[in-house]
Amino acid sequence: MSWDITDIKNWDWRKHPRGAVIRDPGSAKQFKTGGWRSARPIWDEEKCSQCLLCFVLCPDSAIKARDEKITTFDYDFCKGCGICAYECPRDAISMVDEAEARKKEESEEGGP
Ligand code: SF4
Ligand code: SF4
Repeated sequence: MSWDITDIKNWDWRKHPRGAVIRDPGSAKQFKTGGWRSARPIWDEEKCSQCLLCFVLCPDSAIKARDEKITTFDYDFCKGCGICAYECPRDAISMVDEAEARKKEESEEGGP
């Protein structure tokens, strides 16, 4: 679905078009919200104290932990809100531009 946003500055809640409709409960795993991301959290394990604050606060359960330690970020579901980076007491997470991060990934993988 695409919206005509030419008049977006004049939208209010009555004018805003409907977004996604989730019909089935417990189906969040089917929707890979990582595609919405414009900024990507990068975790610095060296700086991390494993306080797990980011794990608790992430609204998408995109931060994975095992044995009470952060293990990875699931970029299929991380939508780049930046809450983890904002709340981290050790500045162990930094947000980087998603397009730049992808370009870097592709060049490291020898992609296009
Ligand atoms: S940026 Fe937002 S969605 Fe992504 S891992 Fe951090 S808190 Fe979770
Ligand atoms: S909030 Fe920061 S220090 Fe705490 S677990 Fe997350 S990355 Fe590590």
